[in-house]
Amino acid sequence: MPHLSTTLIHADDKNNRVSDVAPPINVATTYRYDNNNLIPWAEQDEMTVLEGEPVYSREAHPNCTRLESIFSEILEGHAVVYNSGCSAYHAALVHYNPKRLFIGQSYFGCQAIADMITRNYGLEQHPLEDIEKYAQKGDLVHIETPVNPYGTSIDIQEFADKAHSKGALLLIDSTFAPPPLQKPWDFGADIIMHSATKFFGGHSDLLSGVLVVKDQTAAREMRHDRIHLGTIIGNLESFLLMRSLRTFEMRVLQQSKNACKVVKFLEENKEKYNKVIRILYHSSLQTEPFVTKQLAGGSTPVFSICLMDQGQCKKFVSKLKYFQHATSLGGVESLVEWRAMSDDTIDQTLLRFSVGCENAADLISDLANALDSLQGSN
Ligand SMILES: *Cc1c(COP(=O)(O)O)cnc(C)c1O
Repeated sequence: MPHLSTTLIHADDKNNRVSDVAPPINVATTYRYDNNNLIPWAEQDEMTVLEGEPVYSREAHPNCTRLESIFSEILEGHAVVYNSGCSAYHAALVHYNPKRLFIGQSYFGCQAIADMITRNYGLEQHPLEDIEKYAQKGDLVHIETPVNPYGTSIDIQEFADKAHSKGALLLIDSTFAPPPLQKPWDFGADIIMHSATKFFGGHSDLLSGVLVVKDQTAAREMRHDRIHLGTIIGNLESFLLMRSLRTFEMRVLQQSKNACKVVKFLEENKEKYNKVIRILYHSSLQTEPFVTKQLAGGSTPVFSICLMDQGQCKKFVSKLKYFQHATSLGGVESLVEWRAMSDDTIDQTLLRFSVGCENAADLISDLANALDSLQGSN
């Protein structure tokens, strides 16, 4: 098996349709049939009908096919690519159609999708603590780790064991730690999901999501559902995402290393900034043994701090030069978000940071400036 960086650049070579080294952008929604080889839909093999020449871009299109080749290799399963992370999560709920969903702290968009299904079809929802009490065969356990917005980890193996002992499946949202940072298959996950908008996209300029499963039939069925849900990745986005993937490994490794340096600085200076920093959260500060086993390739580039009050949060974000004050994460540019701006369910003094690919020393001095100024003005 070639290594991650090689796979990112070559896993889709088999899908070349032209001699161009850079894959072309395909904007066509519809493709001419081959009039010398006309096989009606009814006579085609239902399982492989999407795997031939492209017909209509809501079904499949060349750069989505290339992306699925790359993601299937790097995520070690059968990958299905969507037009957002939320679409990917919705697709998983539609496909697995659980009677009960066990869900913990997780992205609020995923919770909102589950709530819609509960509202319309009566999906039962339970906290993770109740898996042993209520879970049955065919149910779904949804965990997110490292978890939004903290960037801290929970034990995947523990939830896999609990789910499996009841015949339920474990879906993990691994958006905060894509490979090589974390490989959820090693700890018993059944379905892996990523918002590719974040680290895979990496340039804050596209929306996409991906689901990965070990079972080829399930992946094919989800591609069939996707035709009519209308949730395939857009043509232009598929080109942008593929271009991003070529450099994905170096970006995410740099982001992870930078984040650890920044968090180390904050941890070591918590006393110095004792009028500003109240709590600091990051997987690199956790001491449970499962954390380093799970994040074998490095910590997540996302961490959070809670300040003393909301007024400090407003001032802090305005004093930063490199950390842009915006929602989202995973891009080459460092971001900070006062989470109260977009999430009313979380501590309203929490700032979430997504560390980018800038130089770590520059990022630390940016933070130190803002911290000095707030510490001094108290
Ligand atoms: C952003 C995000 C999502 C949703 O992805 P979109 O691409 O924005 O739809 C899901 N889970 C996590 C952990 C995320 O950060």
